Amino acid sequence: MELSVQGIVRRFGNVTALGGVDLDVAEGEFLTILGPSGSGKTTLLKTVAGFEIPDEGAVFLGGEDVTLAPPRKRDVGMVFQNYALFPHMTVARNVAFPLEMRGVRREEIRRRVEEALRLVELQGFGERLPRQLSGGQQQRVALARAVVFGPGLLLLDEPFGALDRKLREGLQLEVRRLQRRLRLTTLFITHDQEEALIMSDRIAVMDRGRIEQVGPPAEVYARPATRFVADFLGESNLLDGVLADGAVRIGGFTPVPLPGLPPGPVTLLLRPEALRLAEAAEAAPCRGRGRVIETVFLGLSVKLRVQMEDGPEMLARVPLRPSLPPPAQDGEWLAVGFAPEDVHVIPRG
Ligand code: ATP
Repeated sequence: MELSVQGIVRRFGNVTALGGVDLDVAEGEFLTILGPSGSGKTTLLKTVAGFEIPDEGAVFLGGEDVTLAPPRKRDVGMVFQNYALFPHMTVARNVAFPLEMRGVRREEIRRRVEEALRLVELQGFGERLPRQLSGGQQQRVALARAVVFGPGLLLLDEPFGALDRKLREGLQLEVRRLQRRLRLTTLFITHDQEEALIMSDRIAVMDRGRIEQVGPPAEVYARPATRFVADFLGESNLLDGVLADGAVRIGGFTPVPLPGLPPGPVTLLLRPEALRLAEAAEAAPCRGRGRVIETVFLGLSVKLRVQMEDGPEMLARVPLRPSLPPPAQDGEWLAVGFAPEDVHVIPRG
């Protein structure tokens, strides 16, 4: 079912948690809301679920205005980070609960609970109590409970937040598979940018109660609309300069040619993987010299902090091959370069 959020404002005293949010999620789409703590993600989700009534604006589900409808009247399944299962009920009873609330017949309940447990690969766990399951299994039960009644919309609020990395990665893929299979319209909240990049059809980046940008992961990563988005999503070098006569001068580098763009103050975004070092930098159109101040081994790549001569500190990331030596040692001077086509230009207000 499609979701449309229009002009939502929500204030708590003098805190504006949501300052006018518009968002459309298409049928079957997986949309992630990504933002730092306090940016308004949970408040937005609660507004969609019906636990918050907005001061202004409206929520449409499947074209119907549900702004004032109570949560149980909305066709929405939910999983929260700490949305505990009922501890004294078996797994099967937990999953059956939304169906019982809706007055579904007993035979039908049995069938659907079994199917939902199979979907999350917990068949045979029905008679256990939640405390007899691991954290990851409990979240899968919560997921089964959220989808068992065939909701039109699934809301996930940091559902993997309490799990360790390995378990989280497994569940991310599992949830995505399930969501695709059921073609479930899904609104997912996280402050983990990697999780957002992995899971989403589109990402909406939030800051201080507003959505800064909405787009597919690759687009938001490569072409962030604002400095905040560039900084929040992935690692970045953000260089302030002024565009004049078709080029930008950045301390430490030869001028960066950017023809065809209007003059004025700009921020240049250079992702660490776009920087070239040592011999690889010799032929780069934009070049400078810098001194390595830190190298961090990351397994498949190495991350280097380089202090440019008369320029900024840069972050570089270079892939590692077992047969090749590391690109540089701490304290070493080397050439640093990049190509103008790897630069993304963010206008500055
Ligand atoms: P987190 O990632 O930490 O959960 P969030 O992005 O979900 O953060 P919200 O919980 O939506 O952020 O909060 C947004 C802002 O609204 C915060 O400044 C918060 O303190 C405030 N806020 C949220 N709920 C209430 C409330 N019931 N009363 C007062 N202020 C609130």
